[in-house]
Amino acid sequence: MADTEKRNFDVLQDGVITKSLAFSREEREELGLRGLLPYSVSPQELQMTRLMENLGRKESDIERYVLLSSLQDRNERLFYRTVIDHIEQIMPIIYTPTVGQACKEFSTIFRQSKGFYISPEDKGEIRKILDNWPKKDIRVVVVTDGQRILGLGDLGANGMGIPIGKLALYSACAGIQPDQCLPVMLDVGTNNEEILNDILYLGYPHKRLEGDAYFELVDEFVQAIQDKYPKALIQFEDFLTPNAYALLRKYRKKVLCFNDDIQGTAAVTLAGVYASSKITGIPFKDLKIMFLGAGSAATGIADLMVRAFEKEGLSKDEAIQRLWFVDINGLVVSGRDDLMEHNLPYAHDHEEMEFIEAIDEIQPQVLIGATGFGGAFTREVIERMTAINDRPVIFALSNPTSRAECTARQAYSWSNGNAVFASGSPFKKVTYSGRTYKPGQGNNAYIFPGIGLGAIHSEAKRIPEATFLVAAKVLAEQVSDDDILLGSLYPPLPNIRDISLNIAVAVAENIYDLGLARTEKSENLHQEITDYMFDPTY
Ligand code: NAD
Repeated sequence: MADTEKRNFDVLQDGVITKSLAFSREEREELGLRGLLPYSVSPQELQMTRLMENLGRKESDIERYVLLSSLQDRNERLFYRTVIDHIEQIMPIIYTPTVGQACKEFSTIFRQSKGFYISPEDKGEIRKILDNWPKKDIRVVVVTDGQRILGLGDLGANGMGIPIGKLALYSACAGIQPDQCLPVMLDVGTNNEEILNDILYLGYPHKRLEGDAYFELVDEFVQAIQDKYPKALIQFEDFLTPNAYALLRKYRKKVLCFNDDIQGTAAVTLAGVYASSKITGIPFKDLKIMFLGAGSAATGIADLMVRAFEKEGLSKDEAIQRLWFVDINGLVVSGRDDLMEHNLPYAHDHEEMEFIEAIDEIQPQVLIGATGFGGAFTREVIERMTAINDRPVIFALSNPTSRAECTARQAYSWSNGNAVFASGSPFKKVTYSGRTYKPGQGNNAYIFPGIGLGAIHSEAKRIPEATFLVAAKVLAEQVSDDDILLGSLYPPLPNIRDISLNIAVAVAENIYDLGLARTEKSENLHQEITDYMFDPTY
């Protein structure tokens, strides 16, 4: 029996309930669909085969993005089943790197609205207009103001592709029910002249709201969400670094929220660094780590690493001494007067120097790039790292692919095959000198869906920093000997639902242990969370 009151075209046109060609003869009879579909009944498997063929025929990834985006509206379950079953192929289309292109072209490829838009004209009325959103039980909100989209800068309202993409990953990777997800664009304007001059631009066509007015609008939004959806987790996404920090500081202890660029990136990178010990043989507690780039991503990673070192028995000062930053103006040291507040804890008493010189001087075993500057790891950089390490560990985290600090092939070939490499955007397998390497992708999607699932299951009051450490450990534990043999610091992406589930269970346990849950802990957490997970199979 079909589980719907709807009939005829209303069934076919409802993207949540339709199975389209997969409706059986009985269902077609019962729902009044006879004559409305071609004769053939195509099971979901066959629908996926057809879809993958269509995707293959498209000439560019942006066309594939558009096709998948329309499918998400037209047949949600087919969309998610295809994403889950073909995650390695599809994640780079619905998320980074193609989502970056989709954001740039948002005004032209726009078809159907998928999220919620708030502009300065809504001031004083955000809670009221939130009632226009039809769903009653939102559990995850991903919000951006579009000011620092991936490594692409201020894209204004075009940045809406990011919350939409992230929430699709919440549902695909961790089974968060799609109707419990809400993508939000805080459209406070843009300072990007090119976008402002585009007659097709869909956003609020003014310069950005700034200062107190900006923070007041964000605050009104946070209060409105808390009022209407008190159990919802708010994920801040792609805010400009100073704002990202200001918002995180303001809300992290009061509201169920986190910032994925800072905290999610930190956890996924820490997991990769933990896993690198399995290859290099150097225990985490003995590492010295250098960052190129001292923005939100790098500083977030360092902040979590301080805690990770403390857990290994180091004092906070000792931990900070293990972490060194180089930014666009050279080594971050206390004598500099151009540093931002978040850099100050890591500004060591040391003379100023350039990047290459600093590698020779500090001798890090791990180098992490988070600059947004493609090609910042030159041949000389990799060669210097190789000269001082048997197995230099190199993370090129910047997105999209064109912004990666170096490619996988460059890392392997410039290090004579010795680099242990991971990246933010995906790279294909590389064969160098007869050996095949599978570079791991330090993709935040390994972390945030599981954190979200654990947090919403326990109805966490907030997410403490310790939870990200727990998530990083659980992720690193899932890197197998086979992954290590291929030089990969992350488990295979097709395992993502199990990975997210394991992270969710550990996160929920942690939230219960810390007394931050709003639900009673069940006897069988693993089973309960499994039972909740959205399964798009029909
Ligand atoms: P940000 O703007 O806050 O910081 C960028 C930093 O890089 C600044 O400190 C700047 O001084 C420095 N920088 C820029 N060009 C440089 C150069 N040529 N040499 C040395 N330093 C340079 O940005 P962010 O939020 O920290 O993000 C940085 C990058 O990290 C982005 O490309 C983003 O896509 C990527 N990122 C990746 C992941 C991931 O892979 N999991 C997650 C988050 C962010």
